Amino acid sequence: MKQYLKNTWEGIWTVLIGMKVTFKHLFVPAVTIQYPDVKLPLPDRARNRLYVNMDDCIGCRQCERACPVDCIIIDTAKATPTDDLGTTSNGKKKALWVTKFDIDIAKCCYCSLCVYPCPTECIYMTDVYEFSEYKREDLIYNFSTLTLDEAEEKKVNYEKFMEEKAAAKAKADAEKAADKNQDTKKK
Ligand code: SF4
Ligand code: SF4
Repeated sequence: MKQYLKNTWEGIWTVLIGMKVTFKHLFVPAVTIQYPDVKLPLPDRARNRLYVNMDDCIGCRQCERACPVDCIIIDTAKATPTDDLGTTSNGKKKALWVTKFDIDIAKCCYCSLCVYPCPTECIYMTDVYEFSEYKREDLIYNFSTLTLDEAEEKKVNYEKFMEEKAAAKAKADAEKAADKNQDTKKK
């Protein structure tokens, strides 16, 4: 009987201690938040998902060269004299079509080394940190504003321009040589 009463008292005592801890915590400020409904503000220099403003990209590839894990792939095509690519917002003249600008964000280690060398400050970290995907390929971001057909067209246009330029030069050289021959004969 004595043991029974002792066990009962220990049970009640244990519940009371648990209730005391619970009651105490009702008045302690919460240290957790109800994520994802509530989000903490990010620090100013937080590193998250990258973004490229293609209006300002001059295709210099400095970001690609700086990336330690090779997750940026850029392709460019030279512009012909008739192409008007305009200038960037900080006044740099564009001379290249950026036919491909892919970032494989699954490989990115958020080191920010691509951000610092950009001469037009058009590649930067955003405040987006929730971008999980079901498919691996959806983590490759394509920033080029040209379609595959347009990119091919730009390359073909430049090759054509160079061929025409070479043909015009060859023709001018031939005419010059012919003139020179005639002058020599007259003498
Ligand atoms: S943050 Fe680092 S790893 Fe990511 S793309 Fe830029 S250079 Fe590459
Ligand atoms: S460094 Fe800047 S301007 Fe140059 S290719 Fe990269 S994003 Fe474009």
